[in-house]
Amino acid sequence: MSETLILTRRWGTKDSATLASYKSAGGYGALEKGLALPPSAIVDEVKASNLRGRGGAGFATGLKWTFLPKDVRPRYLTVNADESEPGTFKDRYIIEHEPHMLIEGIALTCWANDIHTAYVYIRGEFARQARILEAALAEAYQAGILGPKVLGKDFALDIHVHRGAGAYICGEESALLESLEGKKGYPRLKPPFPAVVGLYGKPTIINNVETIANIPWIVEHGGAAFAALGVGKSGGTRLFCVSGHVNQPGVYEKPVHYNLKKLIMEDCGGIVGGRKVKAVIPGGSSSPVLTADEIDVSCEFDALKAAGTMAGSGGVIVMDDSTCMVRALSRISKFYAEESCGQCTPCREGTPWMEALVHKIEHGHGQPGDVDKLAQMANNIGGQTICALGDAAAMPVQSFVKKFRAEFERHITERRCPFGDHAWGKTQ
Ligand code: NAD
Ligand code: SF4
Repeated sequence: MSETLILTRRWGTKDSATLASYKSAGGYGALEKGLALPPSAIVDEVKASNLRGRGGAGFATGLKWTFLPKDVRPRYLTVNADESEPGTFKDRYIIEHEPHMLIEGIALTCWANDIHTAYVYIRGEFARQARILEAALAEAYQAGILGPKVLGKDFALDIHVHRGAGAYICGEESALLESLEGKKGYPRLKPPFPAVVGLYGKPTIINNVETIANIPWIVEHGGAAFAALGVGKSGGTRLFCVSGHVNQPGVYEKPVHYNLKKLIMEDCGGIVGGRKVKAVIPGGSSSPVLTADEIDVSCEFDALKAAGTMAGSGGVIVMDDSTCMVRALSRISKFYAEESCGQCTPCREGTPWMEALVHKIEHGHGQPGDVDKLAQMANNIGGQTICALGDAAAMPVQSFVKKFRAEFERHITERRCPFGDHAWGKTQ
C-alpha cells in the first residue's frame, strides 16, 4: 500500500506553522496554479479525487460544492474546526502544524466556488490552535496571500476565526451556523441544507478541517492521483486517531482503506501488556462498536458501513479484554446526555434516561428486563430527532447491547460489576 503522506509529512518539522517554512517546502504553489485555472477546473479535480468529508459523514466533497445555487450571492465557506467527537483528535494537529496548508485549501476552495468570505469555527478549548491560526492568517495578509487581491489576482478573500464556547452540538453544521450568527447553537431542520440556505440565509459550504487541508495536494497533483491513493469511491489518505489500550496511541496517516486490525496490531504496536482486543469503536464514539472478530476489515467508508458501523471521524477507540463494556457505555451515554441541546423531546428526555439505566445496571442495581428496556429506549430515539446527536447517542447503546448482551445480563444477575474495581474506566 502507498506510503504517501499528504497532511502529516511535515509534522514535527521545526517552525512548520510559519509562512517561511511552508513556502520553503513549496507551499502556496498550488494556489498559484489554481488561480491560473478556471474555478470549474478545480471543482472537476476535486470531484475526480473522490475526496469524501473527513468530519464524519463521508459525503462527497466535490458533489457538495455543486449544490450551491448558481445565481445567489454572496456565498460563504465555513470550516468546521469544532472537533469534539470523543476519540477524535486530528484537526487540532493540522492547525497546529500546518495552518498555512489549511489557509491554502480555504483559498482554493473559495476561488473554485466564487466565495469571498470564509470562517473557521474553532472549538473554544483550542486556544493554542486559535492563536497559531491567527498568527498564520496575519502572515498571509501581510504577504498578500489574503485580502483585496489574492496573490495579486483580481480576487478578494477574507478569512475570520470564530472561537466556540464549549458546546459539542455546535460542531453539528447547522448549530454551528446559528452560533456563528450569534444565536444559541440549536440545530436547524434539514432540508434546506446549508449549501442552499446557510449562513445569514445564504448558500454556504461547510467542510471539515482535514477535508479542506487536502485541497492543495489535489490541485497540485491532480484529482486522479488522489483517487489512486484510495479505493472505489473513496480517495486519498486519512488521519486515524487511535486511543485506548494500544502501545502507541496517536494520529496515523494511512490510505483511506487501510486495514483496521493492521493499524491496531502493527502500526500501534498491539495491545498494552500483550492482552487481547475485546472491542473497537472505529469512527468516534457514535459509531457502532466492533468485536475482536470483526476488526479485520478495511476502514473505507462503505466497507465499514457494510460491516455495520461507520468510518465516522476516524477516532479509533481500542478496548482490551479487561474492559467492562457496561462501564464503557456508561461513560459514552453520560457524554451524549450532557451534550444534548434539549431542543427535541426524544433526545432531551431519552439520553438522560439511557444514561441512568446504564448506570443502574453497571452498579448492580438492574432488574430483569432492563436490557430490553434499554434497547427499546435507543430504538425510540434513533431517527426521531432533528439532528444526528440523537442517532449518535442511540447507536452505541444498540450495538453494545446487541454484541455484549451477556455482560449486561451478568451485571444484573450477579448484582455487581463482574470486572471489579480494576475494570477500565473505574479509576478514570
Ligand atoms: P449528513 O450525512 O446529514 O450530511 C453530510 C454533509 O452532506 C452535510 O454537510 C450536509 O449538509 C451535506 N448534504 C447531505 N445531503 C445533502 C443534500 N441533499 N444537499 C446538500 N447537502 C447535503 O451528516 P451530518 O449530520 O452533517 O454529520 C454527521 C456525522 O458527523 C456523523 O457521521 C459523525 O461521525 C460526525 N461527527 C463528527 C464530529 C467531529 O468532531 N468531527 C462530532 C460529531 C459528529
Ligand atoms: Fe438537540 Fe438532541 Fe434534538 Fe439534536 S437531537 S436538536 S442535540 S435535542
